[in-house]
Amino acid sequence: MSALGDLLAFQRDTSALGQIAGRLGWDQETMMPEGASAQRAEEMAALESVLHARRSDPRIGEWLAQIETPTDPIAAAHLREITRSYERAVKIPARLAAELARVTSIAQGEWAAARAADDFAAFVPRLSEIVALKREEAAALAEEGSAYDALLQDYEPGASAAELEAMFGALRPRLVALRAAILDAPQPALPELGQFDEAAQLALAQELAQVFGYDLNRGRIDTAVHPFSSGSGADVRITTRTDPADPFNCLYSTLHEVGHAVYEQNVDPDLGLSILGQGASMGVHESQSRLFENQLGRSRAFCSWLHGRMQARFGAALPGGAEDFYRLINQVHPGCIRTEADELHYNLHVLMRFDLERALIAGDLAVADLDGAWNERFASDFGVQVPRSSLGCLQDVHWSVGLFGYFPTYTIGNLYAGCLFAALQQDLPDLDGELAQGNPGPALAWLREKVQCHGAAQEPRALIEAATGMPPSAEPLLAYLEAKFSDLYGL
Ligand code: ZN
Repeated sequence: MSALGDLLAFQRDTSALGQIAGRLGWDQETMMPEGASAQRAEEMAALESVLHARRSDPRIGEWLAQIETPTDPIAAAHLREITRSYERAVKIPARLAAELARVTSIAQGEWAAARAADDFAAFVPRLSEIVALKREEAAALAEEGSAYDALLQDYEPGASAAELEAMFGALRPRLVALRAAILDAPQPALPELGQFDEAAQLALAQELAQVFGYDLNRGRIDTAVHPFSSGSGADVRITTRTDPADPFNCLYSTLHEVGHAVYEQNVDPDLGLSILGQGASMGVHESQSRLFENQLGRSRAFCSWLHGRMQARFGAALPGGAEDFYRLINQVHPGCIRTEADELHYNLHVLMRFDLERALIAGDLAVADLDGAWNERFASDFGVQVPRSSLGCLQDVHWSVGLFGYFPTYTIGNLYAGCLFAALQQDLPDLDGELAQGNPGPALAWLREKVQCHGAAQEPRALIEAATGMPPSAEPLLAYLEAKFSDLYGL
């Protein structure tokens, strides 16, 4: 075989093993017996050692040196991504890779216990250990450059904190102004909700998933503490959760995860089990999930259809008409929890985490001081005191599993979603008419063709620019939010 053929075959097995590691993670969140966590940490560390050895295998360097620059753009993209992965892997000592896998696996249970007990102090030693390991990893990756930017590359290739600060800086003042105007405006009277049968919530969630193109023959929906999506290609799974008093948590978190899962399912099958057979970046991924959840799922047109479906299933538990329902779904409220935040507050949650995690990685903020720093920042941004750590810095799993540099991809995703939605609306003038019939099909087809089928063959910014015809910026998202919420709150 040629050097390129050998390299791609080797990478294919690495990608297959990576899928297995992901499925072990899925199992840990859904099925694994509680007493298995110590053994699972060892299993994950062993698998990570194998993966790390493969990603840094010296033969990759030899193959890359033998291959001439291909003219075919897909072959060139394979080489670009394999080179990126190889250059990253050889900088990380094997001991560090395995130690990170072991510590972050064991930390998940400890974080969940600390959150349940509202005991941040109990989690400080483990989180300090994780931050120290991530700082070591960042220093190894960054060499002379910025440690935080080095971590960011794992989730958003090509991004830098400086560039994000500029985009987020454009977003923040207009979000803060819009939020202030809404909270000052007269608040609409909203219907009082009853209780919603949890099995019926799951049935409607599954119906919504299928309406939005999720192929259950290549996927499945389970319940877990946290909604998430996992896997690529022919096995893409999601989780959801139910609350009898709040059916929207289940429905909209399902819609969000379906956005991630459909993206993975729609990648060109020819790219399956290759380094390109997945989403282009976490930011692009989040743009798809947020579009499904918000721009499409929380639109007035789609809400009118969903209102009918909910009345059919839940009857008197949901009083009021379709317009009341639309207002309820889009209510602006400065709550403590990021995953329950409205479209305005969501980005303020993320910007705060972006600043705090940069301080942790820079060594400017000690883990022991994180709780206090969090609460102080939250009070100043949201005007609300955090009553306990489970509603504050213990609410998100990310840092306990070593995800530093991940949070900003949520806002990058929202910005990309704003850009994509503006272009999509131009191309599909009858979008609202279709959504009002419960048919997101034309929008799904547009997203599949412009974004999803390409997998990671194009770099994130270039992909968004090609899909929308303009460089990504905060402007389309701000215009969308200002128009939508000015109308909702009569500003
Ligand atoms: Zn997401």
